[in-house]
Amino acid sequence: MNKVILLRIGELYLKGKNKGFFEKTLLKNIKKVLMPFDCNVVKISGRYLVRDFDEMDYNQIINKLAKVFGLTSLSLATEFDTSKENIENFLKEFKTNAKTFRVSVKRADKTFPVASNEYERYLGGIVLSANNHLKVKLKDAELELVVDIRENGKTYVLTESIPCACGMPTGTSGRGLVLLSGGIDSPVSAYMMAKRGLELVGLHFHSFPYTSAQAKEKVCKLAKILTDYTMELKLICCPFTEIQEEIHKNCAPEFMITIMRRIMMRIAKIVCDKYYAKAIITGESLAQVASQTIESINVTNDAQSTYPVFRPCIGMDKSEIIEISRKIGTFETSILPYEDCCTVFLPKNPVIKPNLEKVLKEEAKLDIDLLIEKAISKLEIIEI
Ligand code: ATP
Ligand code: MG
Repeated sequence: MNKVILLRIGELYLKGKNKGFFEKTLLKNIKKVLMPFDCNVVKISGRYLVRDFDEMDYNQIINKLAKVFGLTSLSLATEFDTSKENIENFLKEFKTNAKTFRVSVKRADKTFPVASNEYERYLGGIVLSANNHLKVKLKDAELELVVDIRENGKTYVLTESIPCACGMPTGTSGRGLVLLSGGIDSPVSAYMMAKRGLELVGLHFHSFPYTSAQAKEKVCKLAKILTDYTMELKLICCPFTEIQEEIHKNCAPEFMITIMRRIMMRIAKIVCDKYYAKAIITGESLAQVASQTIESINVTNDAQSTYPVFRPCIGMDKSEIIEISRKIGTFETSILPYEDCCTVFLPKNPVIKPNLEKVLKEEAKLDIDLLIEKAISKLEIIEI
């Protein structure tokens, strides 16, 4: 008899031609988060099993596994060789404080000699004899005792299912570049796109010395929290000070933010090329601030058209974004009071509905290619 952790996977993506690729990537991700623990992971039909772990590590292990995209739920289970005798002996010893219960038999192994319904009733009788206070309740019982008889000659008995992160295994949708500020929204966007299988690279613009070393550290900390979900996250830091000073010196102040955002997009495009990312991700939400109107977004999008820009927070209220940020553990770090580069040289009256022609006219006052080239030559790469 062994204690094992049974991992369940989404059915949807396992039906297509890519089944092997999804399964291999998911197994790699599971093994990666379990690296600090002494244990083994194996695949059985449609599930994974974690074996040989130290029961002292169980809580830590399930915390890690619950964040692996592609897993839908997990259960601590007792595993033994399938036989009527083994199943019944185990249930004779089963004790619980619950008041109501039911037994559910899943008979994937069709060679097992008793039908599920009939066996549920029989096993229920055994559990009742061992726990005098218990009552059977077929619907909404306090305890559901699942007896899962699999094709691999093993039976698994479990009582609880813990929900996992769902989504697609990280890395199965390719790579995206997330523009990571120190705010609340961009880490949430990173999480949402990683959930759809994107492996992420982060790009952060800093305006040292206008923004502090702590502001950058805060972004590193956010990136570190995100790695629980994204496995790895290379963070690329791009100096933005000179670009901002030049815009401030040469362009009409109301276009400051619009031009900054367009230059961020151009740099993001070059970083995508360099790191083989195929999409840009931002934390924008429609109408949240002046730079997030349809007109502003259109003018920003015009700066590069090579890669799609994913904005998973676009239709969300701030309170909804905050809810996710609390759930994924980035909120407390995001609200630390360090300034973002976007707050440096902030104009009093930024244009809310920028006109592309006017923006282009203002931009023509800058040597943008040279500014971008210089910034790119000073990229700093931080392995989180
Ligand atoms: P956030 O909470 O993510 O900072 P925000 O509501 O403060 O977002 P903005 O400051 O307008 O909004 O930024 C919109 C998006 O632009 C951010 O979500 C992020 O994707 C990107 N962005 C802003 N500042 C930076 C930065 N310094 N480095 C990288 N990306 C940035
Ligand atoms: Mg911000």
